[in-house]
Amino acid sequence: MNLILLGPPGAGKGTQAAAIAASRGLVQLSTGDMLRAAVKAGTEVGKQAKAIMERGDLVPDEIVIRIIDERIGQPDCENGFILDGFPRTLPQAAALDKLLADRNKQLDLVIEFKVDDAALVERISGRFACAKCGAGYHDKFKQPKTPGVCDACGSTEFSRRADDNAETVKNRLMAYYKETAPLIGYYFAKGKLKSIDGMAPIDQVTHAIERLLAEVAA
Ligand code: ADP
Ligand code: ADP
Ligand code: ZN
Repeated sequence: MNLILLGPPGAGKGTQAAAIAASRGLVQLSTGDMLRAAVKAGTEVGKQAKAIMERGDLVPDEIVIRIIDERIGQPDCENGFILDGFPRTLPQAAALDKLLADRNKQLDLVIEFKVDDAALVERISGRFACAKCGAGYHDKFKQPKTPGVCDACGSTEFSRRADDNAETVKNRLMAYYKETAPLIGYYFAKGKLKSIDGMAPIDQVTHAIERLLAEVAA
């Protein structure tokens, strides 16, 4: 099954992509994670993306399209993938249609997360992750079971994203409404769109997604 998770920054896409990828044996493809890895490694792409990401603007389409094109062609994506944070513009969506068609792959479902803006800011402000394995947490909504210790790998080091601050969040939300929200109509018109209540607690959102996937598979 090939899925897209669509929603504003902080909506819970990464959290749910990780859960569904694990339960369904799908590959999670997060362009944000891939770009942050490129920035950290100091690659050419990383050098181009760094300042743009820190401002909360979108990285140029051709860069992210190239990254996704290469990644989707790899053998582990044959079983299916979850796109988390891609596409984010209409040209990216059109490029995705083409690269899937070229590989005889299809898109099964686009899941739109509906979350209030005030909740997004709260989620982003409290977000942190394991520095070793990347598992995601929240100061209020998802603390590690043992304080200071990662549930997934036992590491005691955590990190916060440079762009997860109140100033940048506004810019990222603006980019979402201007560039990404039109994709809701794009995928609705293609008959691929389902929306979920992203305001519900994490486990309930996971169950709602599982129900949608069961409907699509039936
Ligand atoms: P996105 O990938 O859409 O930017 P994340 O999955 O990183 O969003 O979630 C943003 C923050 O909100 C994280 O700290 C995460 O733990 C927390 N979070 C995710 N889903 C929920 C939810 N349903 N309720 C409360 N907090 C959530
Ligand atoms: P969030 O879900 O919290 O918005 P991401 O991790 O998905 O964060 O993205 C972080 C940043 O990486 C974005 O603000 C943007 O600069 C860049 N980025 C990620 N995916 C894309 C994309 N598909 N197109 C353009 N820029 C992207
Ligand atoms: Zn960890």
